[in-house]
Amino acid sequence: MADNSPKPTVACPQCGKQKEWSTENQYRPFCSERCRMIDLGAWAAEEYQIASQTSENDYSSSFEDPESRDYMDKPLH
Ligand SMILES: [Zn+2]
Repeated sequence: MADNSPKPTVACPQCGKQKEWSTENQYRPFCSERCRMIDLGAWAAEEYQIASQTSENDYSSSFEDPESRDYMDKPLH
C-alpha cells in the first residue's frame, strides 16, 4: 500500500489559507489557533450581548463553577 497520494486540504474558513487536513489538528477546520480564536470571538461577541440581557441570574459565575455556586445558593441549615 503506497502512501504517496496527495493529502486532502481544506481552506481555512477564517483566512482562506489551504491547510492540510489532519485529524490531529485540534483547530480544524481552521488553519491555526489564531484563526479559530478570531472566529470564536466573532460569535462570542454576539453571544455576550444576548447573555448580558440575562445577567440578573449571574449566569457567568455559575457557568464557570457550577458546583461551588450551587453550594453557595443552598442554606447550610
Ligand atoms: Zn486561517
